[in-house]
Amino acid sequence: MKLHEYQAKALLARHGVTVPPGTAAHNVDDAVAAAEAFGGSFWVVKAQVHAGGRGKGRFAEVESPDVLARVVRGEADVPGKGGVQLCRSLDEVRAAAACMLGNTLVTKQTGIEGVVVKTVLVTTGADIASELYAAVLLDRSNSRILLMASSEGGTEIEEVAEHNPEAIVKVWADPITGLGAWQCRQLAYQLGLEGKTARAAAKMFRALYDTYLAIDASMVEINPLIITPEGGVVALDAKITIDSNAEYRQKEIASWYDASEDDPTEVEAASYHLNFIKLDGNIGCMVNGAGLAMATMDIIQQYGESPANFLDVGGGARTDQVKAAIKIITSDPDVRGILVNIFGGIMKCDVIAQGVIQAVAEVGLELPLVVRLAGTNVEEGKRLLRESGLSIIPADSMADAAEKVVAAVRAESSAGAK
Ligand code: GDP
Ligand code: MG
Repeated sequence: MKLHEYQAKALLARHGVTVPPGTAAHNVDDAVAAAEAFGGSFWVVKAQVHAGGRGKGRFAEVESPDVLARVVRGEADVPGKGGVQLCRSLDEVRAAAACMLGNTLVTKQTGIEGVVVKTVLVTTGADIASELYAAVLLDRSNSRILLMASSEGGTEIEEVAEHNPEAIVKVWADPITGLGAWQCRQLAYQLGLEGKTARAAAKMFRALYDTYLAIDASMVEINPLIITPEGGVVALDAKITIDSNAEYRQKEIASWYDASEDDPTEVEAASYHLNFIKLDGNIGCMVNGAGLAMATMDIIQQYGESPANFLDVGGGARTDQVKAAIKIITSDPDVRGILVNIFGGIMKCDVIAQGVIQAVAEVGLELPLVVRLAGTNVEEGKRLLRESGLSIIPADSMADAAEKVVAAVRAESSAGAK
């Protein structure tokens, strides 16, 4: 689960990371009022979208398709105003907020379709002496938490890794003793920092690590982490991803979830506690359990077609979940046929059959539907399907089911081609 910058900064501040004072606003007047309340004469207005590269992004409502295409290609010096605007007067704050709110920001990461900005963050402006990069993430190659920094702040880390890998420095936390203060100091010195700036940076690194642990993050990335002209260290940008498996114990953070930038089908599936992943084939699969999902996808491929999705209804699905699953699969325009492959262990085959029958009654059935049931109450499940009067194709084994659904899809497409 991704957080917005303003949410990430609120969490970081709680754990001792220095961030510029900021307020999230949903309309222009609130944005101006926030800037006025901070006082001073330098503010930054920032579009709150999950995609990065906002500063270099441009708005679809004002720029030509040509300019937007250059943004998506990641070109430098594209003309126009972006999703991060430095403002020297309240009028400029007003103009910046009006430019962003309700408009579509296109960045290198959003693709040409962009994302609509619904919230802006208004912060006090900071003077920058230099920009660093810092991130905490899990290093899967050695199962340790990695604290990584670079002297090339403001640039994407992938680019630094490619063009100037020696600018990146790393330390790993010990699984038992954690991250030592000495490691944080080591990192600061390796970045070429000195004196009180090195001490402030080391403290900051430690606070980033503390935040990562406390909120069950899977990534905390600060780009740029700036050094101010006075030698202070401030997190100017923040990107945090929370491990979705920890949402149950991070209730406050989970309640901040903003689904508007996620795949709508995956969001709907998640609301029914279904595990749904969109793939690029043409056969929709409804299965229970990840292992059976894998096997089902493999066997579909073996018979020469590929799965349109991975939809796991879980171990003990109810009728309404099965119904939702069928609806989600049939709403996908890529799906040309459906394979329901269920092993009833805890899950009962008659419950699955009822869900399928109800869903088909509600949404109709224009696609071939192959159902293979095995396990608890299988006879009852098969009887319900048989007596439903629906044109469901029954199958006995997995291979039989895969063969039948592939044949049905091919028959439909050759009939369609004639
Ligand atoms: P991103 O483009 O989505 O990564 O957004 P950032 O928050 O990283 O902002 C992009 C760039 O804007 C930064 O790398 C800075 O160079 C600049 N910027 C952002 N906030 C400030 C600020 O308070 N003062 C100054 N001088 N520059 C800023
Ligand atoms: Mg940034």
